[in-house]
Amino acid sequence: MTIKCEVVQDLLPLYIDDHCSKESRELLDVHIQSCDACKTVLKTMQDELPLGNESEKLKGLEAKKPFKKLRNMVITYVSIITSILIIVLVGGYLYLTNVTHNELNVAISSIDVSDHEINVVGSSTNSANGYNGFDYQIEGDSLYLQLKYTTLVSSRNPSGDFEITINENFTNIKKVYIEGEKQGYLLLVWER
Ligand SMILES: [Zn+2]
Repeated sequence: MTIKCEVVQDLLPLYIDDHCSKESRELLDVHIQSCDACKTVLKTMQDELPLGNESEKLKGLEAKKPFKKLRNMVITYVSIITSILIIVLVGGYLYLTNVTHNELNVAISSIDVSDHEINVVGSSTNSANGYNGFDYQIEGDSLYLQLKYTTLVSSRNPSGDFEITINENFTNIKKVYIEGEKQGYLLLVWER
């Protein structure tokens, strides 16, 4: 029994899906073996609609795609958030530590100068500042005190209050200044 190419090609989708009878399949097999045109059409159809394991594999890939997208999105967001956190933490750390008291909004409540000790008690008039230590230099007959503040008031820096005691030979000291980081921020707090 011979069948026309048109008929064979009409039946090829059923053949590919394995939905035709055993008899039809055998007829089609015989025809396709000897007909290059139908063989080509079959091949094209099989390439367009992969079956069996191929099809399952493809489905697997399709199913994985959304997760890949999601994963890439998560990676992107995590990278952005990490970068922002690093910038904020580093910037914040630099901002909050060792901020020198440039503005000199300082109130001195007492200052005692003896030949071998100087004691200064005071506070920041800016309530946001926590006292964080001091530096000093002696130049000629002047003592320059440099107060260090952080803008973070915490248990470590409970307030802007400070009490400074320095023991040195102060017999030649005639003036005590509180100094800001920038030149020109000088407050004369004691004079002999
Ligand atoms: Zn044919």
